[in-house]
Amino acid sequence: MSSVNTAIQLITREQAEKGSAARGSTCSPALAQGPWDYDLAEALAGIPAYGPGASSADVAPAATPRQRQLPEEYKLATDAELAERITAAKAALGDRAVILGHFYQRDEVIQYADFVGDSFQLANAALTRPDAEAIIFCGVHFMAETADILSRPEQAVILPNLAAGCSMADMADADSVAECWEQLEEIFGTEPDADGRVPVIPVTYMNSSAALKAFCGEHGGIVCTSSNARTVLEWAFQRAQRVLFFPDQHLGRNTAKALGVPLERMPLWNPRKDLGGNDERALQESRVILWHGFCSVHKRFSVAQIEQARAEHPGVQVIVHPECPMEVVDAADSAGSTDFIKKAIAAATEPTTFAIGTEINMVNRLAAEYPQHTIFCLDPVICPCSTMYRIHPGYLAWVLEELVAGRVVNRITVDDAVQSNARTALERMLAARP
Ligand code: SF4
Repeated sequence: MSSVNTAIQLITREQAEKGSAARGSTCSPALAQGPWDYDLAEALAGIPAYGPGASSADVAPAATPRQRQLPEEYKLATDAELAERITAAKAALGDRAVILGHFYQRDEVIQYADFVGDSFQLANAALTRPDAEAIIFCGVHFMAETADILSRPEQAVILPNLAAGCSMADMADADSVAECWEQLEEIFGTEPDADGRVPVIPVTYMNSSAALKAFCGEHGGIVCTSSNARTVLEWAFQRAQRVLFFPDQHLGRNTAKALGVPLERMPLWNPRKDLGGNDERALQESRVILWHGFCSVHKRFSVAQIEQARAEHPGVQVIVHPECPMEVVDAADSAGSTDFIKKAIAAATEPTTFAIGTEINMVNRLAAEYPQHTIFCLDPVICPCSTMYRIHPGYLAWVLEELVAGRVVNRITVDDAVQSNARTALERMLAARP
């Protein structure tokens, strides 16, 4: 059993003893059990859910894909049996299949990955294997969609568990964004100003559905990642008076603030309220309109945790992901994408203590990779990304053995019309220069 599973069990036992679970903590020992229990529970209740963990308190939209029941043989197999079956299937498939693993994926799955990286690196990794018939994406739904958009039409992109969504991506759905856009056009019109800048341009974070990437492609907008958000916002400000940024308010706020945009010119758009909960004047004066979305994993990090880390580890270097709230980013020594965090640790020449504000599987892997440093997660009550955690080796064994038998299961496909506009927005991102 992985160290994350063991830690989850220890922590949740402690929580239960202290009664903190009753105060609304979302970690649960059930995380360490087979995720198929949740596929079944969802099927019985008729309600899609994210499963227990950091995002379990969020409401999954009705359209969230559901995973059909995993055949019993995979649920009953021991860890050793699954390892043997995955290794054998992978060997039988050879170059016909490529396995991609996101940094936040559990170790029991990541050990079989041909490439490990963030969502954008993995989408690019898929491009380096145009001869592979199948791309098995051990990440979440929007990542598999992006791989499908960028890969050849004949290549099948497979998500081992369809319930591996992303609660943040689900916070901005295509209908709500289209409705917001309509309201903004009514207020701002569509005419460019004297400098040729349109009233508003849409920018979506990579962590969004293909439909939203397509929306950006269709409306002159662009996609960004946590690595290039600054460059993309600069690109957008050259072309527009203001930006509609979705779904992650924190990445949008942190990036715009670093570019000098005052907080009072960044209204929050709540899709459940008229004009997003703003008055017309605030929208007229805005520079960045932030969608009311967030990552449930990164939202957990706090300034108090940073203060505690500094008190307990004098000289500690605190690095956090820009999906963390602004106060946390401001209190940290530095903030950046998963790739930035990795590179910052790799660049340290002297033994250093690092407190990291990102998902626990990645932090644990960094700690193992760099034993000369002391590396720990800022959040003492670790919660992995619960949706990423839905991919268990049992599902990986199942999709691989089905492929060996000539059957493609859990294929993720993006409609041609959506693909074309989404690709436009992704290509603008690749071409964007500060
Ligand atoms: S860590 Fe957050 S943003 Fe990333 S996949 Fe999980 S819920 Fe989505």
